[in-house]
Amino acid sequence: MRPMLRDSPYPMLPIEDAQRIIGEHTRLIDSEEIDCCAMLPTAPDGRVLAEDVYATETIPDVPKAAVDGYALQVADNTNERRVLAEIAAGMEQSPVVEPGTAVRIMTGAPIPQGADAVIMVEDTEERAGLLHVQRMVQQGQNIHVVGQDVAHGALVLACGTSLGAAEVGLLATIGRTRIAVARRPRVAVLSTGDEVREPDLPREVGGIRDSNRYALLAAVREAGGEAISLGIARDDEQAQRQAILRGLEQADVLLTSGGVSMGTRDLIKPLLSELGTVHFGRVLFKPGKPTTFATVQDTLVFGLPGYPVSSLVSFEVFVRPALRRMQGAIYPDRPRVQVTLCDTIKAAPDRPEYQRVIVRWEEGQLVAQSTGAQGSSRLLSLRAANALLLVPSGGQVYQAGDRLEALLVGSLVPS
Ligand code: AMP
Ligand code: MG
Repeated sequence: MRPMLRDSPYPMLPIEDAQRIIGEHTRLIDSEEIDCCAMLPTAPDGRVLAEDVYATETIPDVPKAAVDGYALQVADNTNERRVLAEIAAGMEQSPVVEPGTAVRIMTGAPIPQGADAVIMVEDTEERAGLLHVQRMVQQGQNIHVVGQDVAHGALVLACGTSLGAAEVGLLATIGRTRIAVARRPRVAVLSTGDEVREPDLPREVGGIRDSNRYALLAAVREAGGEAISLGIARDDEQAQRQAILRGLEQADVLLTSGGVSMGTRDLIKPLLSELGTVHFGRVLFKPGKPTTFATVQDTLVFGLPGYPVSSLVSFEVFVRPALRRMQGAIYPDRPRVQVTLCDTIKAAPDRPEYQRVIVRWEEGQLVAQSTGAQGSSRLLSLRAANALLLVPSGGQVYQAGDRLEALLVGSLVPS
């Protein structure tokens, strides 16, 4: 136990200063090679590309039919062409198309020599081996020209791109199955507190279930990290030191929850300053004032508050951007947008606040609806929230129709 202090020795930092300090200590993580066509658990989904990827081929490599129909010569001045053969995608051999002839051709098949257009089957008739054209095409029509989809040497994916469905498809298209991606940062998560219990164990009167660790582990995975659970440490200096050391051994980033406030059982800040350097111990914002940031050698350590909403909002504001930056993501930060309020909102007098809201597109603008009571312990205020409303300090009352900025942390919901 520690004596109960009345004044924190840590100055209260503005949010931007705290973010800048974290940024100054955030290094790009090493890369590794993966197979972009692998299935789980090594699937490329959500990984951040660690190299520029260029096309080493032209796609398509030969002119190809864009529709099912007939390849012919547009200007051969006849309306009765002899059908010489049929070619399908994947076939290479075809007779040469001379004036007065045509080749039945399927989508994706190479255009035969001599042909200068493909007519859609819907615009033709074929009787007794002769093709009759009902509506003539222009020269070049319905032909995919060489390089139309991907030019040789073109930058296909830039370093820092997150790999989603389209990107994985592109890599497969150009035959780049092995690619360099950022290693997933290993992020260890520790809960602290004598009252904190595993969610599936019986709970004593007054005890609480460990929601923070499981929520943070999920948030880490969502941010592209490899999540490591360190369990729960009692409010005992030795127990917490041991758990922190265990985390430091295996992780690039360590997150703790609880134990950073002013109580006699709040041991995290002194432990971190004993083991490394505490860069800040308080931030001027709500919820999450006691958020603490330290480094122990190369490991980033975030002492997140115990209240469930505070720990997740702090993760969003401070930890997630650092994890995305470590992976070299082109856009490590969430987008900021202007929203119109649906409800009356009261600002905190002393600190800027991140209120949880649901943002949707309605009648030509983004509107924000509050998730209800904004208490730090009320996880329900985060349920379905897709944005954090940035409410400046000063105690003002904002009315429905007023506009504020918000950080979009999830997808917009339909109106
Ligand atoms: P502390 O900062 O440790 O005093 O924690 C502040 C509040 O957050 C206390 O009411 C705790 O019970 C609660 N809390 C701490 N850790 C957790 C956790 N892992 N899951 C849910 N609530 C927690
Ligand atoms: Mg505690």
